[in-house]
Amino acid sequence: MPTPTIEKLLALQDRDQKRLSLEAQLRAGPRDIAAAEQKIAEEKTAIETARGELQELEVKKKAIEHEIAATEDRLAKYKSQQLLVRKNDEYQALGTEIAHVQAEIGAAEEEELKVMYAIDETKEKFTAAEAELKRSIAGHEARIRLLRERETGLRSELQAAQESVAAARGPLDEPTLLLYDRLAAKPGLPAVVPIHDGKCGGCHLKISSNVDSETRKIDKLVTCDQCTRIVYWEA
Ligand SMILES: [Zn+2]
Repeated sequence: MPTPTIEKLLALQDRDQKRLSLEAQLRAGPRDIAAAEQKIAEEKTAIETARGELQELEVKKKAIEHEIAATEDRLAKYKSQQLLVRKNDEYQALGTEIAHVQAEIGAAEEEELKVMYAIDETKEKFTAAEAELKRSIAGHEARIRLLRERETGLRSELQAAQESVAAARGPLDEPTLLLYDRLAAKPGLPAVVPIHDGKCGGCHLKISSNVDSETRKIDKLVTCDQCTRIVYWEA
């Protein structure tokens, strides 16, 4: 049977573990929120980049349209000049210019068509990507809200856990608490462990005969001579 002191220590250890788990969850909260915020920022940047691509294509289309309009003006000018010339060679020279300008317009119109297809394609991709990213952002935002709510809940749970730890420390004397605190401060260490089959429940090494006999005495605190945890017999 665990001694009364061991029972009190086990109660304290149990409450301490609950408190530590709450503290760990509270530490993780801000990290998770920051990670979700980072994802939102990245997705917003992705939307802006896609929008930028579309805008660039629109600008290119406008430039081509201006170029076509200017070339058409030149064409009209050459055509009206051609109506006024009397000499055959001048007429033919203008004819060559006109053919040249018409070819320029044709090429520009082809280019414009390509840009228009690209705009359609990009728009389609952008709309789909934007919808997807917005859904994803909404998901991250919901997660952030949930994490914030959870943090509030965890804070009040932690306060209750701290009070319950303090209550569990009350009945223990100073030297026992000192020993327990020293052990509990070591990372990953349960301070108080049972003995199973003559082995320490912490380090799993066989306990010495001295430890064995000491633990059988009434209400005496004994530590494992291998790992220094407080050991006790369960039954
Ligand atoms: Zn041990």
